[in-house]
Amino acid sequence: MAEAGKRALVTGGAGFVGSHLCERLLHEGYWVVCVDNLCTGTLENVAHLTDDPRFEYIEHDVTTHMNISGELDEVYHFASPASPMDFERIPVQILQVGSVGTHNALGLAKSRGARFLLASSSEVYGDPLVHPQHEDYRGNVNQIGVRGVYDEAKRYAESITMAYHRHHGLDTRIARVFNTHGPRMRPDDGRIISTFISQALAGKPLTIHGDGSQTRSIQYVDDLIEGVLRLMHSGETRPVNLGNPVELTVREIAGLILDLSDGSGTTIQTPLPTDDPKRRRPDITRAREVLGWEPRVSTQEGLEKTLAWFQER
Ligand code: NAD
Repeated sequence: MAEAGKRALVTGGAGFVGSHLCERLLHEGYWVVCVDNLCTGTLENVAHLTDDPRFEYIEHDVTTHMNISGELDEVYHFASPASPMDFERIPVQILQVGSVGTHNALGLAKSRGARFLLASSSEVYGDPLVHPQHEDYRGNVNQIGVRGVYDEAKRYAESITMAYHRHHGLDTRIARVFNTHGPRMRPDDGRIISTFISQALAGKPLTIHGDGSQTRSIQYVDDLIEGVLRLMHSGETRPVNLGNPVELTVREIAGLILDLSDGSGTTIQTPLPTDDPKRRRPDITRAREVLGWEPRVSTQEGLEKTLAWFQER
């Protein structure tokens, strides 16, 4: 494998997505340094990797100076709380990790001559006025709203990444990640898939915000990781959407999850949160053309896998 022997740093590596990334990189033959402060992640997510001599875990807050010894070829910056519950619980930390944390990660990549990839988010599009969302769309974010802390942190992170690229000549990549699900999501993180699955398995009604006609696009984590690796190893320095272009209403997603559990559950309506995006669907033309990437795991199959993991727990 071409990448074998490379050394990569994954910030946020003990989180849901980061732990899958560490696992895949090890599988590809990398040496992996996982940096995390366990603010929303857990050591349990990487427990199965700790026996591998090529895996190193460092507990550290990336908003403070990072001193990692040895060479680094690639830096994957995934550290950031990402769930709606966190937007209210730890808003300042979210702004800090997106700004100071990204600055520190960029500085480290620059000092080692490493390539840098930022995990940005579809939330940079806010409540979009353009549909589907193409990378050139500049978004509709309410910067003073509750969700604004996350959206603006990601927008700043993209901006400083491009500043390092243009001003310091750093080799950078920006992945705009859309809603992703899979094993190791926190059951109580308030995101749509984990919430619906937890409720379905507990025999509780699924809480649908508003009338459930708002749409979401959900991808399985393995597809995202494949896209992230392809992006890192491409020559593309513009942002790239990584998400599933299959658009479903929230009500349809609830229906799918109820069918996959035992089908006997019900739904109830709750008020729409402020600034909840009404529509979400990535335009993945760029990812298709430049990376030859598109999701492979169907919505049904992905949800089955995630549900099976929640059931095992
Ligand atoms: P997560 O909360 O499971 O993982 C984030 C990890 O970052 C956690 O392990 C947390 O402890 C760590 N972290 C947070 N602040 C830190 C700090 N200051 N120092 C060190 N570590 C810190 O969330 P996730 O869903 O795995 O998201 C990972 C990345 O992907 C985030 O950057 C997120 O914004 C992005 N993203 C995720 C999704 C999704 O649907 N999961 C969608 C868009 C973007």
